[in-house]
Amino acid sequence: MALGEFDLIARYFTRPVHRAALGVGDDCALLRPTPGMQLAVSTDLLVEGRHFLSTVAPERLGHKALAVNLSDLAACGAAPLAFTLTLSMPRVDEAFLAGFAQGLFALADAHGIELVGGDTTAGPLTVGITVFGEVPAGEALRRDGARPGDRLWVSHPVGGGLGDARLALEAFRGRVDLAGEDFTTVRRAMELPTPRVALGLALRGLASAAIDLSDGLLGDLGHVRRRSGAAAGLPGPLGVRLHADALPCSPALARQDRALRLECSLAGGDDYELLIAAPPAHDAALRAAAATAGCALTPIGELTDDGALQVLDAAGRPVDTPWAAFDHFRA
Ligand code: ADP
Ligand code: MG
Repeated sequence: MALGEFDLIARYFTRPVHRAALGVGDDCALLRPTPGMQLAVSTDLLVEGRHFLSTVAPERLGHKALAVNLSDLAACGAAPLAFTLTLSMPRVDEAFLAGFAQGLFALADAHGIELVGGDTTAGPLTVGITVFGEVPAGEALRRDGARPGDRLWVSHPVGGGLGDARLALEAFRGRVDLAGEDFTTVRRAMELPTPRVALGLALRGLASAAIDLSDGLLGDLGHVRRRSGAAAGLPGPLGVRLHADALPCSPALARQDRALRLECSLAGGDDYELLIAAPPAHDAALRAAAATAGCALTPIGELTDDGALQVLDAAGRPVDTPWAAFDHFRA
């Protein structure tokens, strides 16, 4: 007989908690945030066919569902504490559940974050996670702190870049043909993103603003420009000079034509890297922070007070950016 709701929760999603005061099994979980810290809370919902393909291995889905949420904590400079999981699935598939739980808990353990509760129901395959983190009061990185004169940076894997997840998606869609090894690496980028949690912590006190890249660089940069422009008392968004040819790029994406390369890195989505603004006085400290965190940081532009977004090539000529930012209700 198939497992019932409570048996599957007990078998796959109940583990002893150490940092929380009470975990799975009661009406509420009880958390123990460190005195003096603020709670950082974020939620992300993954729907099959929208956020992941049905071909994804369950281990990778478990990883990605938590990774995209940890990425939000990273963008705020928050240290992970606990998470909840809401899971809707058409039927109880134990092979799926075992793989999903394995990928989920491997990443959770790597970040010392505990599953403390959730909800489980029958329905279309959908995974929702809420993460709880903590950050010293007043030290959270936010989208609204960028100022004219700040430099713009983006994190990326050492030897890699932005846009690989989008390139993988285009390969799945049949728009591009990738060599076997290129396909394997970009598929990995799409299905196993690395949340920049250590970098986020190291950026406290250095970055004036940060956001994680989930909907594409240009769209996410727009959020920073608008919120920071308003916070700076400007009549509109902050201006940006963005150097398109400075964008870090993996060997697989570098082998594509320039138009696709720009589309994937400027409007790709699903990168889960951090976009950061910081005063130039922090250049050396930022590079040191990235080295400590085991990733790379590359300067890609400057913030200005003229309100305009200028995307420039290596010769300083404007680059066409015809892609609309991703929007679930317009896509
Ligand atoms: P309630 O009906 O009181 O909301 P449930 O019966 O739905 O509680 O869940 C029982 C317990 O199992 C609760 O502690 C809940 O947090 C936990 N739980 C349910 N689904 C999950 C899940 N997918 N992962 C972790 N914990 C879960
Ligand atoms: Mg319930």
